[in-house]
Amino acid sequence: MMPKLTKAGFVCAARGCKNKQYLSRESFFLFPKDIVRARIWAIAGRREDLLENLESLHRSHRLCGAHFEAKAFLNDLRNRLQPEAVPTIVPSLEGPSSALQDHNYSFFIPDTFMLSHAVDIESEIGKV
Ligand SMILES: [Zn+2]
Repeated sequence: MMPKLTKAGFVCAARGCKNKQYLSRESFFLFPKDIVRARIWAIAGRREDLLENLESLHRSHRLCGAHFEAKAFLNDLRNRLQPEAVPTIVPSLEGPSSALQDHNYSFFIPDTFMLSHAVDIESEIGKV
């Protein structure tokens, strides 16, 4: 599937985010090729609908820099991400507290939890 806005720039894949590449100061980042990390990006962006297509997200979907903390960037221009950066800042549709109660995951997952969680996913994939 080709992105629709090839000439105008890309829209951010995060649900509720209105940022467009050609209108925004934010840099846009392709989803990771690594499906374990792509899964984390999709969940953090509240795009559970993307979980079935993790292998192809890196070709078609981007998140804007607004979803990453300052420490996730390699430079002050905020146009280069750390290799292991995960999005932690996601616009909320119904308020952060209700979102956290309604879902099994948190947008603000501590680094240590995220790492152990990623390992769990990897070992699950290994079994299949
Ligand atoms: Zn965005």
